[in-house]
Amino acid sequence: MRESCGVVGLALTDRESDKAALPIYYSLYALQHRGQESTGITVHDGKSAQTQKGMGLVPDVFKKYNLKDLKGFVGIGHVRYSTTGDSTIENTQPLIVNFMDRTIAIAHNGNLVNSSELRYEFEAEGQIFLTSSDTEVIARLLVKELIKTDILGAIKELMRRLEGSYSLTILVDDILVVVRDPLGFKPLCLGEVDGGYVVASESVAIDTIGGTLIRDVRPGEVIIFKDGRYHSHQLSKTRNTAKCVFEYIYFARPDSIIDSKLVYQVRIRIGERLVDEHPVNADIISPIPDSGITFGIGYSKKSGIDYMEGLMKNRYIGRTFIMPDQNMRETAVKLKLNTIPQNIKDKSVILMDDSIVRGTTSRRIVDMVRKAGAKEVHVRIGSPPIVAPCYMGIDMATREELVAAHKTVAGVEAVINADSLGYISVEGLVDAVGIPADDLCLACLTGVYPIEVPGEICKRHQMTLSQF
Ligand code: SF4
Repeated sequence: MRESCGVVGLALTDRESDKAALPIYYSLYALQHRGQESTGITVHDGKSAQTQKGMGLVPDVFKKYNLKDLKGFVGIGHVRYSTTGDSTIENTQPLIVNFMDRTIAIAHNGNLVNSSELRYEFEAEGQIFLTSSDTEVIARLLVKELIKTDILGAIKELMRRLEGSYSLTILVDDILVVVRDPLGFKPLCLGEVDGGYVVASESVAIDTIGGTLIRDVRPGEVIIFKDGRYHSHQLSKTRNTAKCVFEYIYFARPDSIIDSKLVYQVRIRIGERLVDEHPVNADIISPIPDSGITFGIGYSKKSGIDYMEGLMKNRYIGRTFIMPDQNMRETAVKLKLNTIPQNIKDKSVILMDDSIVRGTTSRRIVDMVRKAGAKEVHVRIGSPPIVAPCYMGIDMATREELVAAHKTVAGVEAVINADSLGYISVEGLVDAVGIPADDLCLACLTGVYPIEVPGEICKRHQMTLSQF
């Protein structure tokens, strides 16, 4: 499973300062887990915008440049994993558009479900797209509206046209604008730093630069940073939101706070809940590092079963998903994990993981643990079975590839060669997260989508565009 992106925005109060780039760089470093394919920073000094971007990890891209060349008091940054659009230099962000002596730069986390339709409208008018990413659709819509009206009016129209998930940091010349979609699929939070404000996909980015988290950007909210202050506008209000539950299970860093919930605590509660739902007599709990660790601690705490590492991760290898094809992914698993037979041999082992997508990686890990001498291997999973694809910005797999879309729990248990398999229930997960089910997106777990997606069941949310 792959997260789509991470975004940052930073506005310093002192317009004479040229120091926005460095804290943005460190914030992107803190968000590297959200995307490893490309990264970029755009800053503005009040006269012009400057951008540095490229393919690769944050330190690798910016070591090719001199960050000191990026001089500005306001800026945005982006780390990307592609969901819509290819992994190419053209699709790296921030995406820059110049028009009528003005510049906009956009960093986008999410995925539009109506981007093809909107793109077609522009193409029918004779416009030629320079990238294959849905962010260019956002840029073109924004330019079209900015020609006619002010920033707020343009964003209001933009939000009326966009369908899907979007957390955006935007520079309109030297004004920072941030937008979270009305259903709040993707996280976005606001913080204060010495001499200014910062907005980021996760609070760890704010912590990293010594800032203080103020609050989450609300679903449907637009914040404009101008003249050393920020102005909030609640442009859209829905009866319910659709916050991605997988942020809590897997995507976000455990030290992040999303919607006032510390992700680490949510994962501990998931582990504890798994004891209630799927108890088992075993000698040790061994997490599949790193994503199973916190669930494993929770399970051990509640069950009293020893927590012991039976698998060790090579920390110099990135997440397996940066490998583009199945063959390379298989090699990556072997490179990434090794067993500690002394901790496993002749023991009944509980392996703890966040999810099962295709089942192939889980099978290989169970086989490795058996080979290392485990007497029994029980698998416990911190998410319910993934039965449907994500259209909102997470690249997980097609429905055909999702093992749980076609098999019962017993069937998946056989595929992965486990002695027993237990997933947390949807109810148990919702309780552990602590947000009502109606305010979460659970579509990949239930097959019921919060927005209209062709061929899928949709749970309609009532949406009103407020007057102000
Ligand atoms: S479908 Fe699943 S991964 Fe996608 S936004 Fe909803 S909860 Fe998140």
